[in-house]
This record gives sequence, C-alpha cells and structure tokens, in this order.
Amino acid sequence: MKCMEKDVYKSSQYNIFFEDKAGVTLLYNTFTTALIKLTKEKAEKIKITLKLNDLNELETDEYNLLINNGFIINNKINEIDQVKFRYYRGVFNSRDFRVTIVPTLNCNLNCPYCFERDKRDENITLKEYEEIYKFIDKQLFICQPNDFGISWYGGEPLLEVDTIENISNKIDIICKNNNIKRACDSIVTNGYLLDEDCAKRLFNCGIKKIQITLDGDRDAHNKQRILKNGEGTFDKILNSIIIAQRYFELVTVRFNTNKSNHEGIVRLLKNKSDIFNKNNIVISVGRLKNYLGGIVSKENDNDCLNGFELQNIQGYIDNYYKRVKTVNKMPIQIKHTNCGAESHKCFIIGPKLKIYKCAEALGYSDSVGFIVDGDFQPNEVFWQWFNYNIFNNNEKCMSCKYVPMCMGGCPSSRKRLGIPNNEICGYWEQWLNIKFNELINTLN
Ligand code: SF4
Ligand code: SF4
Repeated sequence: MKCMEKDVYKSSQYNIFFEDKAGVTLLYNTFTTALIKLTKEKAEKIKITLKLNDLNELETDEYNLLINNGFIINNKINEIDQVKFRYYRGVFNSRDFRVTIVPTLNCNLNCPYCFERDKRDENITLKEYEEIYKFIDKQLFICQPNDFGISWYGGEPLLEVDTIENISNKIDIICKNNNIKRACDSIVTNGYLLDEDCAKRLFNCGIKKIQITLDGDRDAHNKQRILKNGEGTFDKILNSIIIAQRYFELVTVRFNTNKSNHEGIVRLLKNKSDIFNKNNIVISVGRLKNYLGGIVSKENDNDCLNGFELQNIQGYIDNYYKRVKTVNKMPIQIKHTNCGAESHKCFIIGPKLKIYKCAEALGYSDSVGFIVDGDFQPNEVFWQWFNYNIFNNNEKCMSCKYVPMCMGGCPSSRKRLGIPNNEICGYWEQWLNIKFNELINTLN
C-alpha cells in the first residue's frame, strides 16, 4: 500500500555513493556526515529509489535509516539554507575569539613567490602593545572563550623573540585577571633562526606548536627559500626541524608543493625518515603558488597543482609512509567556515595596530581596520570581505555535492581571484575517495 507520508520527502543533494571493486558500497552524506555500508543489492535498490525519488519502494526500516541520517529530507527544505545557517553560526560565534600577532613585517628570507611582496621593516612598538593588551582584555571579557592562546606569524617572528617572551607573560596576566584558561601558543616560522636556545625560550613562554616550511628536497628548496644574499637555507632549516622535534608538542612541516617539486618531497621523506618519522611531526602539503609573488601570472603558473592533484600527493605520502603522521588522518568532520578569515572574532594584528583578516594577505591594501582605544574600528575593506562569501552569485558551489566540506575554499583566494574559485575543486572529492578506500579495507 502506498504510504502518503513518503511523498513529502526527497533525496538529499549531498548523498555520495562510493563502490569498491568487490561491490561493497558506502553511502555518505557530506552535510550530516552520516555513513552507511550497503550490500550490492541494497545499494542498487537505494540508488535507483533516490534517483527516481520513488520512496514508496523502500521498506520501513530502510526508510527510517535514510531519514534519520539525512539521506532523505522533507521536500520543502532547501539544503543550501541549512549550509548557510551552519556557515553563519561559525562566522558569528562570539566565543571563538582568536588573535594572531605579527610582531614584524620584516623577514630574513627573500622567497620569490612571497605574497608579502611589499615587505616592510615595520615592527609593533611598545606603545602599540599597550593598546593590544587593552583590546585583548576587553574582548576576553566580552567573548568569554573557553580558553585563549596567541598565534605568532610574520614577516619572520623569530626576529622578535624578546618581544614574544614579554607579550606572552603579559597575556598570562590578562587571562588570569579575566579567569580565562591560558591555552598553549603556536608559531609559524621559516625556521632559519631556530637554534637550541631559541627553541628553549619559545617553549618556556608557552609555545607548544610550531610550523616550519620546506619547499622540497635540497635542490628545489634552495631555489626558492633563499636568504637576501641568494644563499640556500635547506640544511639549516632541516636542522631546525630536528631541534623543534625535541622541544615542541606538535611540529608541522609544511611542504609547499607544485608539479616540479613533489617528487623531490617524496624522495626526501623516504631518505630522511629518521627525521620525519616521529610521533610529534605532522607532514602537510600545501599548494606552492608562484603567481602570488607576481613573477608569473596565474594563467601561466603551469606548475600549480589543482585540488585533485594536491590531495593525491598528500594521500600518496600518507599511504607510502604509513609511519609518518599527516594532517590527513583527521576524521570526517563538520565544517562551519574555512578559516578564521571568515569569523568575525578572529583578528590578525600587525604593526601600526592594523587588523587583517588573513595572515597571508598583509599588504598595504589588505588591512581591514585598526585598534583605537582598545576597540576594533573596521574600515571599508572589512565590509567588502563579506561580499566574497560563497553564497553570492555562485551557482557552481551551490550545486556542488562537496560544498558542506569545502565551503568554497580559501576566502582570500576568492577575494583575489573571484567567485567561484576553482583552485580547490577536486580536493575534497579525492579526500573522500582515499578515506573510503581505507575504510573499506578496514571493513573487509
Ligand atoms: S570550490 Fe569547487 S569543490 Fe568547493 S564547493 Fe565550490 S565547486 Fe565545490
Ligand atoms: S583566507 Fe585562505 S590563506 Fe588566509 S588563512 Fe584562510 S584559508 Fe588560509
């Protein structure tokens, strides 16, 4: 007998079927993150039923399973509204108060692709730090986050270790006065200045996480990450990674990767597994974009990897060097926004009390406002950022099955390159393929 209730439901647009060679099928929903394993016969039946939207063909237990996990939904619901709700909940989460401090815009390296092209010899002054303390104190009182830690970025933050020590002590006091738990701090550095003494000092002032960048093996790295006199930095930075591994709880080695250097990276990980194969080292590959430095246009940056290729390299490293931990071991998870650049309580503070949205966009025109009398005063650029959210004029992302995982990729790239920004397309699709394959192997 036809069940009338089933007429008011439809298939979710975020369902993904994954079938392995032996016919085992997984059904996953990228919005709810529900995942079920199906036999070949059941998968065929459900696939056809969902495609034809003929839910009357389903047994009651099948129907309940699909509805309870969001594979079928009320047909009046526009799922994009749900994605939007989740996104804005992330954007306006006032308890998510985060601060990155850029103590200097100066850098000791001269990488040709550096997005901070207009490097300036500007530091945050002592007087400006007084304003920053006032700002953090006020925001901690208003936001009441669960805990609070600082991220250090640059320029090159290790040019300012004395300052980092002083500021950390002061932040300890501000947190204590506000009864907010002091979380550990983190730092992103090129690693060149990290010696034993420096690592000890950073660790002692509460920095427990460090990210150091390599651009491939010695040859590839020394072509890109050079000192101002043109000298390569590979050996020194590799030694810094060895030191960092002894001091910090988490060392992320970020490999800037493109079509020319990824084979060298794989060779390096293989030859130096005594360095990289440690429990507290995470390997992360990111896209090397030569076009950011203006030496080549985006169209002519033929070495740049697309999302699918980038994920393939990460997956290859994960798979080949099983004992090397990578960021890609993270479980399937729900995403609100892409990063702090989209959250209204995430602030990047630089010299002259300028506020930025993204640590990778610290140019003259990127500032989104200032700290004045301990308060954030946004300028017109701040409001412009919200024009680049993924829901504006973006048919491609709005009809994409992967949007709840991807959220349109890096917002800074969307702002710079326009919407939709295709750089990331394929990344999450391939991530799921890799995860599903691993999962099926575990289940078999
Ligand atoms: S950027 Fe590409 S993968 Fe991401 S949501 Fe948009 S269309 Fe989908
Ligand atoms: S805006 Fe893009 S580059 Fe900047 S932090 Fe976010 S994801 Fe990274």
